Amino acid sequence: MGFEINRFTGEVDDELLCPICSGVLEEPLQAPACEHAFCSACIHEWISRQPTCPVDRQSITQLRPVPRILRNLLARLSITCDNAMYGCQAVLKLDALSSHLSECEHNPKKPVPCEQGCGLIIPMDELKDHNCVRELRALIHSQQQKIQDFQQEIADQRFQINEQKRELYILKDFMRAMRVSNPTMRALADDMERDEVVRWSNSLARARVTRWGGMISTPDDLLQAVIKRSLADSGCPAHIVDDLMEKCHERSWPLGLSSLETRQNNRRQYENYVCKRIPGKQAVVILACDNPHINEDMMADPGLVMIFAHGIE
Ligand SMILES: [Zn+2]
Ligand SMILES: [Zn+2]
Ligand SMILES: [Zn+2]
Ligand SMILES: [Zn+2]
Repeated sequence: MGFEINRFTGEVDDELLCPICSGVLEEPLQAPACEHAFCSACIHEWISRQPTCPVDRQSITQLRPVPRILRNLLARLSITCDNAMYGCQAVLKLDALSSHLSECEHNPKKPVPCEQGCGLIIPMDELKDHNCVRELRALIHSQQQKIQDFQQEIADQRFQINEQKRELYILKDFMRAMRVSNPTMRALADDMERDEVVRWSNSLARARVTRWGGMISTPDDLLQAVIKRSLADSGCPAHIVDDLMEKCHERSWPLGLSSLETRQNNRRQYENYVCKRIPGKQAVVILACDNPHINEDMMADPGLVMIFAHGIE
């Protein structure tokens, strides 16, 4: 729909009027053959019913933009603001109207913040009937509803996860029983166990050892028990916990780490280890799957546990 002609100051040339709505052309388009121009909305609605020019009945197959001269003439017209009835006195060039409307102070729907305390953004014309307590109460109610929905969803998912865990345990037991007699099953089970170790490793934070000299090469039973519990709590796959803990003492370490002397000789290689923090403890786990670049005499399967007196970040 075009602009009402009485909103314009001064004469408006007949060429700038839409033959369909009789207003001043808004987003004009023209028929290519006869060059009659119409508002975009007006002509689209017209040709949805009949594909001919409303002025001379010539057929219209496509529409195209009007010439620059016509657009310039339109842009130079002066028009009053849409919100004149709400007190806006502004008179603008037609091409500046839309940017004025987006910030016109007299727009009754202009979003403004409530200044009585609730801070909600509301249309200006709703401000006089606005009640902070009522609005906030409605907001709290809708948010409580959302929280309830989320909680229900979480409970459902937790239930599903537990079901799946249970199925997985059964499946693993089944595979363990089968792997003894079936080589295919053995390979499959090995793969799954390897994946499990990699997933666990990815869940641990990378650790940096700042003082390799703080290494405890002969941890006592109590210290070993503490570290073992932390390993298990961190999600360490059950099938490697004991193997790993076995490798926390120099008597089970590979040749390159087995004595004070060999450790001194190999000191420089420590920096190449990819270490993962055992959560909450001054201890790291150095897994074979994270350290394929380390020499055999410095690595063990499934990995090493190193406990420190201090010096881990
Ligand atoms: Zn029109
Ligand atoms: Zn025509
Ligand atoms: Zn205005
Ligand atoms: Zn309020």
